[in-house]
Amino acid sequence: MGVFEVAQAEGHEEVLFGSDPVSGLRTIIAIHSTALGPALGGTRFYPYATEEEALTDVLRLAKGMTYKSAAAGLDLGGGKAVIIGDPRTDKTERLLRAYARVIDSLGGRYVTAEDVGTTTEDMITISRETKHVSGLPAEYGGSGDPSPATATGVLSAIRATARHLWGDDDLTGRRFAIQGVGKVGGSLAELLVKSGASIVVSDTYQPAVDHAVAAYGATAVDVGDIYDVECDLFAPCALGASFTADTIPRLRCEAIAGSANNQLETTADADRLIERGITYVPDFIVNAGGVINIQEELHGSYSWERAAHALEGIGESVTKVLTRAAADDTTPVIAARRIAEDRIDAVGGLRLRRRPGEPTSPSN
Ligand code: NAD
Repeated sequence: MGVFEVAQAEGHEEVLFGSDPVSGLRTIIAIHSTALGPALGGTRFYPYATEEEALTDVLRLAKGMTYKSAAAGLDLGGGKAVIIGDPRTDKTERLLRAYARVIDSLGGRYVTAEDVGTTTEDMITISRETKHVSGLPAEYGGSGDPSPATATGVLSAIRATARHLWGDDDLTGRRFAIQGVGKVGGSLAELLVKSGASIVVSDTYQPAVDHAVAAYGATAVDVGDIYDVECDLFAPCALGASFTADTIPRLRCEAIAGSANNQLETTADADRLIERGITYVPDFIVNAGGVINIQEELHGSYSWERAAHALEGIGESVTKVLTRAAADDTTPVIAARRIAEDRIDAVGGLRLRRRPGEPTSPSN
C-alpha cells in the first residue's frame, strides 16, 4: 500500500516528512485530525528498523490521539511525530532544533510534547525554534512530568468504575492489582493506599517493587503471577498487550482500568473480557490525564488546581462510556469510539465556520 492509500484509509489530514542532512534528522509528523483543535501528540524518538515501520506507528498513534482528546472533551485534535534513530546516540541539539523547525512550518496545526525517547529537556531545546511545544518544565511555565496527572486521572476512572459496578466509590478495604509500578503505577499505588485500599504489585524492575512494598505496604508477586491475583480491579500500568487469549482466562478481577496504552492484544479481547464478565474501561479514556494536563498548559499559564479539576472529568467520561455500552449492547471500546466520533461530528463542524479574516488552520 502506498503512503496516500494508508493515510486516506484512516482519514489522516496530512503527513509531513522532514529531513536535515547535517544532523541526519529523519522525521515524520502525522496530523490525523484538526477538527476539534490543534493536533497534539508527543514525539517518539525510536530506532525503527524500517521507514515503513515508522510510518505505520506514527499514523496509528496520531489517530489514537484524536480519539483520546475527543472522548475527553478537549479542544484538541490528534497528531504524533516520530524521529527515526537511537535517542541515546543520535540525539543532538542540531537535530532537535532542525526537527523543531519542521514543527514550526506547520504554523500550529501540530503541537508536540514528550513521548518514548524524548524528555522535558528536549522540549526546552525544541522551544528555541518553535512555540508549538508543550510538556515544558514548571520553570518554563509548563506542566512538567505528566505522570502524577495521569495517575490522578486513573484514580478518577477507578472511582467512577466503582460507582458503576458497586454503587459506591469508597475504596476502603478494596483490593487492587497494579501491573508496573513506575511513574504512573507508583503514583497510583500511593493514591489507592491513601484511599484505604490494599494493593498487590508486580514489576520487572525490582527496585520499583521494593519501593512499593516499603512505602505503601504493597504485597509483591512475580511478574507472571499478577494475572492470577484475586482482586476487585486490575490496573495495567506497564506496557501494552497485557490482555490476550492466554491471560484473560486467568483473571480474577471484576474490572480493569489502568494507564498502559493499547492494553488489548487484539480487538477480539474486548469480547473475551465481556464473556468473562469483566468490565474493561478503555485505555484511551482512563489515561487521558496527561493530555488533559497539557491542555491546561496551552491556556497560557499552567495551574495544578485547574488541571486537577479538569482531571475529574475522566470519571464522568467513564460513566458515559459504561452507560453507553450497556445502552448500545456493545463493548466499552466501541462505545468510547462512538462518543469520540459523536463529539467530532457535533463540534468539529464549528471550525469550518470561520470568522472573516480568521486563518484557515487552527494555531495557538
Ligand atoms: P514507566 O516506564 O515509568 O513505568 C512502567 C513500569 O512498568 C516500569 O517500572 C517497568 O519496569 C514496568 N514493567 C515493564 N514491563 C513490565 C511487565 N511485563 N510487568 C510488570 N512491570 C513491567 O512508564 P510510565 O510513564 O509509568 O507509563 C506506564 C504506562 O502508561 C505506559 O504504557 C505509558 O505509555 C502509559 N501512559 C503514561 C502516561 C504518563 O503520563 N506517563 C500517560 C499516558 C499513558
